[in-house]
Amino acid sequence: MTADRGDAARPHWRDWTWQLRERIRSAEALARWVLPTADEKDAIALLASRFHFVITPYYAALMDPDDPNCPIRRQVVPATAEVRDPAGLADPLDEVAHSPVKNVIRVYPDRIAFCVNNECALYCRFCLRKRMVGEPGWAMKQRELEAALAWIRRTPEIRDVLLTGGDPLVFSDARLDWLLGELRAIPHVELLRLGTRLPVTLPFRVTDDLVAMLARHHPVWVNTHFNHPKELTPEAAEACDRLTRAGIPVGNQSVLLRGINDTPDVMRTLCEGLVRLRVRPYYCYQAQWLEGTAHFRVPIERGMELFRGMRGRTSGFAIPQYVLDTPHGKVPLAAPSFRGREGDEVVVESWDGHLWREPNPLEP
Ligand SMILES: *Cc1c(COP(=O)(O)O)cnc(C)c1O
Ligand code: SF4
Repeated sequence: MTADRGDAARPHWRDWTWQLRERIRSAEALARWVLPTADEKDAIALLASRFHFVITPYYAALMDPDDPNCPIRRQVVPATAEVRDPAGLADPLDEVAHSPVKNVIRVYPDRIAFCVNNECALYCRFCLRKRMVGEPGWAMKQRELEAALAWIRRTPEIRDVLLTGGDPLVFSDARLDWLLGELRAIPHVELLRLGTRLPVTLPFRVTDDLVAMLARHHPVWVNTHFNHPKELTPEAAEACDRLTRAGIPVGNQSVLLRGINDTPDVMRTLCEGLVRLRVRPYYCYQAQWLEGTAHFRVPIERGMELFRGMRGRTSGFAIPQYVLDTPHGKVPLAAPSFRGREGDEVVVESWDGHLWREPNPLEP
């Protein structure tokens, strides 16, 4: 049996384990959802051994069957442009060099990204951690998780632990409960965060049992990853609502992607849709200098212009911070509003282009 559009009306559709079992992994399976183009078929064949092709039926059902430029489809279906991109790195943030123990990435003194899982519900073509997702060598064995926990225990500066991957919500409730409990028992770990795309790609994973378990480990914060307004479905809204009702603040980290969300209209619609779900746009990342992703990148100047254009035109908290991630941490990218000093005044430019002079004498 192979999943197809008819399954969306059947009860098993909302069972997240069914969704994982029935994931699309071949051109033949994809053909039950969309009409694959020659380029998509070639890319699937060429990339089979490089970066896995996996899609949940739920996310596949959001794809436009007739439009290869569909913003959902382009995020998850391979394109031969990936193979034609000779530049770009496997590990542009040099994360391996920043790992004191396997899968713990430390670029700041007080917080870490802890890649607890190498699996995701589906694989995004622009994924920063392409080198690890779906690769068995990056899976964490129990003793490796214990080794990472031991490192956190003996590193008292760490007050904020971000569980990421891969996707930590692909773990069972029991395994995640154990891991969060171990972290919560460390006195210097104040904050637990989860980075997960499952509210977007497999929202049925966010069950009442899951959120009840997460709430036992508060304070827990979640950042998810919506990139396009088409992803703001009733199912995704329900997942976010469950999380926020359990007292978990939910933020969003998107990636600026050419042809997907790089116009002011799409970005504003996405961000306004997120705040309607009570999800706060947190970061929007410049797409990394990563192998196979040149076709997704937008010049940084255009990105800065896009976010500058949102100021004054929508709620302040609907505007994410546009950032470039580097091996030295995240760097905010913003077109300068500060024009400089003139005598005892500084000159700033407002959202609508007015120059404003603010009295601001130098310190005596
Ligand atoms: C993004 C990131 C964090 C968290 O950064 P915040 O700006 O606090 O959200 C921590 N560690 C690493 C390695 C990161 O990439
Ligand atoms: S969900 Fe996140 S970690 Fe997983 S493939 Fe997509 S971008 Fe990568």
